[in-house]
Amino acid sequence: MKVFISADMEGASGITSTKQCSPKETTEYERGRKFLTGDVNAAVRGAMSAGATEVLVNDSHGPMTNILIEDLEDGARLISGSNKPLLQMQGLDDSFDAVFFVAYHAREGSGMGLLNHTIMGSVVQELRCNGEPVGETAINAGIAGAMGVPVVLLTGDAEVAGEAQSLIPGIETVAVKDSFDRHASNCVPPSKTKGMIEEAAAGILSRVDSIDPLAVELPVVFQVTFRSTASVAMACLFPSVKPVDSKTIEIVDGDYLAAFKKLWGTLVLGHAAMGGVLER
Ligand SMILES: [Zn+2]
Repeated sequence: MKVFISADMEGASGITSTKQCSPKETTEYERGRKFLTGDVNAAVRGAMSAGATEVLVNDSHGPMTNILIEDLEDGARLISGSNKPLLQMQGLDDSFDAVFFVAYHAREGSGMGLLNHTIMGSVVQELRCNGEPVGETAINAGIAGAMGVPVVLLTGDAEVAGEAQSLIPGIETVAVKDSFDRHASNCVPPSKTKGMIEEAAAGILSRVDSIDPLAVELPVVFQVTFRSTASVAMACLFPSVKPVDSKTIEIVDGDYLAAFKKLWGTLVLGHAAMGGVLER
């Protein structure tokens, strides 16, 4: 059995501050990395105790060099570093049996989710898939679904756990904190969440066949409302990306993975355009 873990950071046990998620910080970021690595290791141990023979972890936050490989559970492998065509799902293919989302956060504008945002918070105001606002949980579950692999476990705050449950019937979730503000949560300590995550990971793999891969209706329509009007013209350099209004573009494609790659490309361009692409 092969398990793929996409590990973000904001949803890790104990994390409640951007300082704990930013390499520009020192002390707090190092604490955040330990919290994240601890949650990932708990998921790896659970997977292995349930019979996983391969566990591939994709570091999926910011510069994607957050997880402390020197502390990574023996037996897992780690994809580390930036510039990934499939972003938070880099490394997944149809040979995997299950996907875990670890330390995930709620989508932009979703309740009081801790540090809620969608993919690039400074760039994206709202992302819609087939008309519905979506976050990374839905977008990435769609990638796994396009490869025929179910997402069976999510860890994060209660807000993103609810997001996952409404999207994927039967998914196991571990709410490691209850957020009552974008910058504050009531946290279960890591000493306790380790066991919760390990147990949930092992348990869900014993009934992995009960969860279907997410099937997104095709052709898929992605709409991105950017924070800045500057992003739209550059994003529309791709011939298949159409402007909708001064801040919004649309992508339509019969292939989910192709649509996602166009989406990711528009965000990269949209981000570069915000400061003027040649003004740096
Ligand atoms: Zn993140």
